Amino acid sequence: MSTLFISDLHLHETRPQITRAFFHFLHTQALGAEQLYILGDFFDAWIGDDDDNALNAEIATELKKLSSAGTQIFLMHGNRDFLLGEKFAAQAGAQLIAEGTVIDLYGCPTLLLHGDNLCTDDKDYIAFRQQVRSPQWQQQILAQPLAARRALAAQLREKSQAMNSLKAEDIMDVSQADVIRVMQNAEVTRLIHGHTHRPARHTLEVNLKSAERIVLGDWHDLGWVIVADRDKTELISWSL
Ligand code: MN
Repeated sequence: MSTLFISDLHLHETRPQITRAFFHFLHTQALGAEQLYILGDFFDAWIGDDDDNALNAEIATELKKLSSAGTQIFLMHGNRDFLLGEKFAAQAGAQLIAEGTVIDLYGCPTLLLHGDNLCTDDKDYIAFRQQVRSPQWQQQILAQPLAARRALAAQLREKSQAMNSLKAEDIMDVSQADVIRVMQNAEVTRLIHGHTHRPARHTLEVNLKSAERIVLGDWHDLGWVIVADRDKTELISWSL
């Protein structure tokens, strides 16, 4: 029995090879897993669950097959797909979980984040995040017709090239002080997140205890997954 974590697939119709790699992952590695956690930016953009895009429906169907086969699927919002809602989750047989959820991972309390809230040195981004995560802003956006939302999404992408880039050097790294703060508050010695596109395992000290921060990679040239079971936790990559 194992628990898997992935993030930052940035699925989009312009990246069909990543969708194919993900479906292959579902049909091989993920099959038989106890749980699959998807920690944000699963989709490169999300304009509402009412989007009648064929790719979204196909992805929901594939996830649903895995969940019907017995794997519990959990979805967390990222900074690209924060409008993803209960309707899509239900179609996919998945459960939406809040940013900052703490799970008991085979005896180790583990904090789960997408990771963008840790990049506090990027003041412009933090201001943008505050705006787009407000329920009022989201209601206003979701009340607009699909065509208007599609246009807005395209406009947002053009507005900031850096915000749209998937290259690690264009995404600010986490603030170490914030990492320690959130781990202390959650009383954990392990943190798993994505977002920065800087896959690595970092050891650190939290409350005088040895702790670990594991960062998932984005799916581009490589696929990335954390595989945990009773005996070990591994960060694994493979060529796409
Ligand atoms: Mn992200």
